[in-house]
Amino acid sequence: MDLKDIGEFGFIKRFANKFDSFIKEEELGIGDDCAVMPINETDNFVVTTDLLNEDIHFIKDKISPEELGHKSLAVNLSDIAAMGAEPKFSFLSIGIPSHVSVEYLDAFMTGFYALSEKYKVPLMGGDTTKSADKLTINVAVIGQCKKTEMHLRSMAKEGDLICVTGFLGDSAAGLNVILNDLELSPENKYLVQKHHVPEPRINEGMWLAKQKSVHAMMDISDGISSDLMHILDASAKSAHVHTEKLPISNSLRNAAIKNNWDPVELASAGGEDYELLFTVDAKNFDSLQKEYKTHFSEEIFIIGEIKQGQAEISWFNNGKNIIINKNGFNHFAKS
Ligand code: ADP
Ligand code: MG
Repeated sequence: MDLKDIGEFGFIKRFANKFDSFIKEEELGIGDDCAVMPINETDNFVVTTDLLNEDIHFIKDKISPEELGHKSLAVNLSDIAAMGAEPKFSFLSIGIPSHVSVEYLDAFMTGFYALSEKYKVPLMGGDTTKSADKLTINVAVIGQCKKTEMHLRSMAKEGDLICVTGFLGDSAAGLNVILNDLELSPENKYLVQKHHVPEPRINEGMWLAKQKSVHAMMDISDGISSDLMHILDASAKSAHVHTEKLPISNSLRNAAIKNNWDPVELASAGGEDYELLFTVDAKNFDSLQKEYKTHFSEEIFIIGEIKQGQAEISWFNNGKNIIINKNGFNHFAKS
């Protein structure tokens, strides 16, 4: 059997449940943005790890080493944000091919340090090895949160509004700019920046986690068409999503017209936006939006509703049922 027959998640499913019998009550293993381990009566540790492979996750000549250092930590902090937790400690393991210079690695660490400093997350350890010819980076982050403020993918309720914290599709459009060697106009630069220097929604995640009306939460790494399915699977619910409500930046709209891209496809199936995707009790939305705006001077975008029924997304455009063919990113998936 080929991996492409089952995909990344099919592979994980083959062994994920095997360990359940020795996972204790209150612990949570494979299946959410972070694993969860109780520290004491009131608090949990949450742990995440993410791997970045040269030529799979980044093209070394296209991203600066500082940006790569930032992104390696940012994608992990985003999973901590998704749990509503506060990041506490990081670990960094790197496989380095012989042609990578010390100056390059110093610059990588400068980017990694700057983001660590911003959220006061010290690097506590890791591993350094030689690799054959590609740079491989693995980061793990430990966070902490109150047990009562945990937000799992399984917490969506019927009638909830489905919300996101920011623009969708910019990062995927930035990747298009990079892969097609497009001219770096200010608009394209912004899109590339969104791809190379994602800002994890740490403060927003911690704030949303404290709101009783917020239920399920996760971060968007593979695109909402894939990521929302994880919430639906875990919560045993279905969803309606309205494509005209997807928050799409003006930069993406303009670039899409110029380059003949479908902005809705990029916003629904494009990965690596690292915004938060969460569900909210509909009756509390207006007050949540008002307080969120006061805190962050930004708004929350409603993109759909959680419905009863088996896990699937029904897509609508201005009330008309439509088919979206593209799925979110999945390693090993058939193209
Ligand atoms: P995310 O996009 O939030 O980082 P992933 O989609 O990468 O999450 O992973 C989904 C779940 O599967 C997570 O709980 C992750 O810890 C787990 N997982 C992924 N790969 C492995 C693996 N090789 N071994 C154990 N767990 C894994
Ligand atoms: Mg995640």
